[in-house]
Amino acid sequence: MSTGEGTRAVRAGLPEARKHEPALPGPAFAAHYHLPGEPTGPYAYGRDSNPTWTLLEQAIGELEAPGETGAETVVFASGMAAVSAVLLSQVGAGDAVVLPDDGYQALPLVRERLEEYGVEVRTAPTRGESQLSVLDGAKLLWIETPSNPGLDVCDVRRLADAAHARGALVAVDNTLATPLGQRPLALGADFAVASATKGLTGHGDLLLGYVVCRDTALAARVRQWRKVVGAIPGPMEAWLAHRSLATLQLRSDRQCANALTLARALADRAEVTGLRYPGLPDDPSHTIASRQMRRFGSVVSFELPGRDHAERFLAETRLVDDATSFGSVRSSAERRGRWGGDAVAEGFIRFSAGAEDPDDLVADVLRALDAAAGRDT
Ligand SMILES: *Cc1c(COP(=O)(O)O)cnc(C)c1O
Repeated sequence: MSTGEGTRAVRAGLPEARKHEPALPGPAFAAHYHLPGEPTGPYAYGRDSNPTWTLLEQAIGELEAPGETGAETVVFASGMAAVSAVLLSQVGAGDAVVLPDDGYQALPLVRERLEEYGVEVRTAPTRGESQLSVLDGAKLLWIETPSNPGLDVCDVRRLADAAHARGALVAVDNTLATPLGQRPLALGADFAVASATKGLTGHGDLLLGYVVCRDTALAARVRQWRKVVGAIPGPMEAWLAHRSLATLQLRSDRQCANALTLARALADRAEVTGLRYPGLPDDPSHTIASRQMRRFGSVVSFELPGRDHAERFLAETRLVDDATSFGSVRSSAERRGRWGGDAVAEGFIRFSAGAEDPDDLVADVLRALDAAAGRDT
């Protein structure tokens, strides 16, 4: 039966209905399983497999790769566990990897590790498909679109075709978009990788990551990596994540709409510069984003005139938590430059729109902007 994405989200990964059983079985807490005789069958030891993961993997697979037979999902303890699993399980000494130079802030740490292992790492910006120019001889191309925190977008289909023509594998970090925003496998990628800590689970209360692989052979290496490194999610986190998927469409619709409303309101402010949201028709990312994305995400970025101004704005908001991360039902924002590492101005704000009433959220942000500007003069 073919269904819409909202229906898929509420039913994803549910086992067949059985009398007197819950719709979504609770977390299976098990280090080991009863296993008399020959060790066959799916569940033997808790680092290899867990029935709560199995259902969650099924569910994420239905959202990331609906109808793609052969695609397999592997869940991890965090987004970085998933990112590292793909890179470190697929490449080795002598291989070349292409990474974005404007991606997630922990990618440079992965780069250091790869280089210590004898992997050549090349980087290029996300914007304008710049990675095309460094693909020759690469084993794997890593794409992050929209990029975090700059919100640049690249053409996944075009990059994937070019990479495949040169024999390279393609992985897309789908954290910001979530599978309801874009589906990397349908755009030609071999791996969709994400931090489920963010919008996928959306409550800011757990860490989790996943890798969806185009085929069984790729998945086997990723699964083997999880077993070797032991980067496994707890059953409670896996169950909470699965429970959260039921509201993914509701949350995404509200949060993406709030992000657009907020971006429009920010566009009218004189003190706001460098406003970016891929859903704004005049955003540099909009043309490609509207071709490959079905929602433009919950993150808006902009600059205020300097560090103090940005700090005052954050201190004045009442509905927006000054916190890192994004994708939660509660709005959050931060002055990104406080971490160092990202190439951003001192007054750069990464704003994550939550699921509040849009009028309340916009009013709170405009009031905080007024207050922050008032004390400037
Ligand atoms: C947060 C994030 C990660 C890492 O995820 P964790 O769950 O924090 O380990 C990777 N990629 C992107 C784009 C992220 O935003």
